[in-house]
Amino acid sequence: MYRLYGEMRAMKMLKTILKQLSNKPVTTTFPAEPARYFDATRGHIVFDPSKCTSCTICVKRCPSQAITVDRVAKLWTIDRFRCVICNQCVELCSFDAVSLGTAYSASVTADERGTETFEITYVRPKKPKKEHGNEE
Ligand code: SF4
Ligand code: SF4
Repeated sequence: MYRLYGEMRAMKMLKTILKQLSNKPVTTTFPAEPARYFDATRGHIVFDPSKCTSCTICVKRCPSQAITVDRVAKLWTIDRFRCVICNQCVELCSFDAVSLGTAYSASVTADERGTETFEITYVRPKKPKKEHGNEE
């Protein structure tokens, strides 16, 4: 009885092995084959320094405290080790200074750290001067 049961299990296992041999692999051979990205892939946060007004909303609302802004030095920094790519900063930034890129960030070692700092280049537009002498 036990022998029959063992043989049945072996047959089932053999069937599974043969089936897997004829199937295509379900995973890719990364990095030999490039990774595939899709429109909805949450790869990494992209920052546009020309649009950032240093409002710091992203800093206050980032759940993993991945962003810091130095308003005096005009620096925007992201710690990619902390960022969980939740998209919150993208949704909250009213100036479209942050967006979601589909490609994954390049790998770094713990020594290299995952922080990236950008110099904010946004220039606040000047208010138009009030014209005098038009009053009647
Ligand atoms: S990235 Fe957007 S939300 Fe963050 S400080 Fe700049 S303007 Fe404000
Ligand atoms: S995607 Fe989320 S975790 Fe990453 S920096 Fe933006 S708010 Fe923070």
